[in-house]
Amino acid sequence: MSKVIQAHDLKFKPFIEAAAIAEAVQKMGSALKVEYQDKNPLFICVLNGAFVFAADLLRACDFPCEVAFVRLASYQGSSSTGKVTTIFGLDVPLKNRHVIVVEDIVDSGLTLSHFLKELTALQPASLKLAVLLIKPEALQVDIRPEYFGFEIPNEFVVGYGLDYDGLCRNLPAIYIKTDEN
Ligand code: 5GP
Repeated sequence: MSKVIQAHDLKFKPFIEAAAIAEAVQKMGSALKVEYQDKNPLFICVLNGAFVFAADLLRACDFPCEVAFVRLASYQGSSSTGKVTTIFGLDVPLKNRHVIVVEDIVDSGLTLSHFLKELTALQPASLKLAVLLIKPEALQVDIRPEYFGFEIPNEFVVGYGLDYDGLCRNLPAIYIKTDEN
């Protein structure tokens, strides 16, 4: 894992290798089992970025569960945090369900914070977050994912579902932006 890669105008270097991601995902699956094995939880995968993480996480969850997929569109609005979210594709009733939102990365946290408020209004029995990456220095709202893989610096990363302008989602590891050659 020493190769610098180029995507469009940017360069990225290896940051979290595939084996470390796999280990973190397995650990998360085991932790989720302790809490959810008798609850038939509903995972909500936030597309596009979380599709790889969700596919691996669901297979690390050795208990009955379901999955739904949503897309979020955020735009600047007049709310206090300046962002509004619209949810597309949520076709499963959440009332009295145990819901776990699966997200690739929490940066400012603004998108998720609005999404969680909208989900809360649908009256789930419980609502928690499973996130692969968090950037604590970038957080602008009080979001603490109950389940997370790695805390990372406030830098742009790609791979394992995360893209740079469409590229890099297929990389099996996480890469971080670099100026090196
Ligand atoms: P937030 O509302 O937390 O600022 O933004 C979250 C979304 O921004 C993520 O779901 C992801 O799509 C995108 N994002 C934030 N940081 C990164 C990053 O380092 N790399 C990539 N590829 N996307 C990011």
